[in-house]
Amino acid sequence: MELNQRTQFPIVHIFGIPFSKLNMNETVRYLTDAVQSGRPHQVITANPIMVMAAMEDPAYKTMMQNADIIVPDGSGIVWAAKTGGDPVAERVTGFDLVHELLKAGENYRWKFYLLGSTPEVIQEAAERLQMQYPAAIIAGYRDGYFGPDQDDEVIEGIQAVSPDILFVARGADTQEPWIARYKERLGVPVMMGVGGTFDVVSGKTKRAPKAFQKLRLEWLYRLLREPTRFKRMLALPKFAVKVLREKENVTKPS
Ligand code: UDP
Repeated sequence: MELNQRTQFPIVHIFGIPFSKLNMNETVRYLTDAVQSGRPHQVITANPIMVMAAMEDPAYKTMMQNADIIVPDGSGIVWAAKTGGDPVAERVTGFDLVHELLKAGENYRWKFYLLGSTPEVIQEAAERLQMQYPAAIIAGYRDGYFGPDQDDEVIEGIQAVSPDILFVARGADTQEPWIARYKERLGVPVMMGVGGTFDVVSGKTKRAPKAFQKLRLEWLYRLLREPTRFKRMLALPKFAVKVLREKENVTKPS
């Protein structure tokens, strides 16, 4: 079995990207240890679009490979691992992981900082999550519409409350490189990109209905609601074709 060299949990490579084979409970346990260690950890919840981006952009790939844990969000990853003959334990979505960490945070009295999405969305999401998880501490939040010239100020705002966990919702092409760039300076034990999670939590957008989730058609639901996603979603069929064509290479470390 292949293990992550630094952290010793089982992994499977999907076109060179090391995915965790931990299930949801084990992932939460690993991140609980991460919080207790006090050292910064970057969590990436990755989908096929991000794997394809990594194949086209070496800097993005290196950034992903340097994350402490990459969990298989996106049913395409679960499918690819299985097709490649080395399945993951289960799908671990960013949305579910956010909720599981808040639940665990109630036990441990962890402090959370929520960064990203619009001012209205993040305020509403913070209020709703605080109500849903009263014993967890939402120590601070701010929107995600700021430029590089404001990075210092944003980082200082986060450092001021020294959270245990930082969620960043700014879109996959921005949030992961941002966390990676400032990982040591931010110094938060667990930092994770959460994409559109707060839009869903705040009620601004809806998660795909259960039927779509069961049929693994969440991508189709999103595409129907936001047709502008079409171009970036072309990566999905490309990914599927690549998995089927190169079955024996899918899970090869490279
Ligand atoms: N977002 C943000 N700052 C930006 C761009 C986006 O905070 O400069 C937020 C946006 O409001 C949304 C989240 O990032 O809550 C995810 O956006 P999107 O769904 O476009 O990202 P992707 O699908 O690329 O992950």
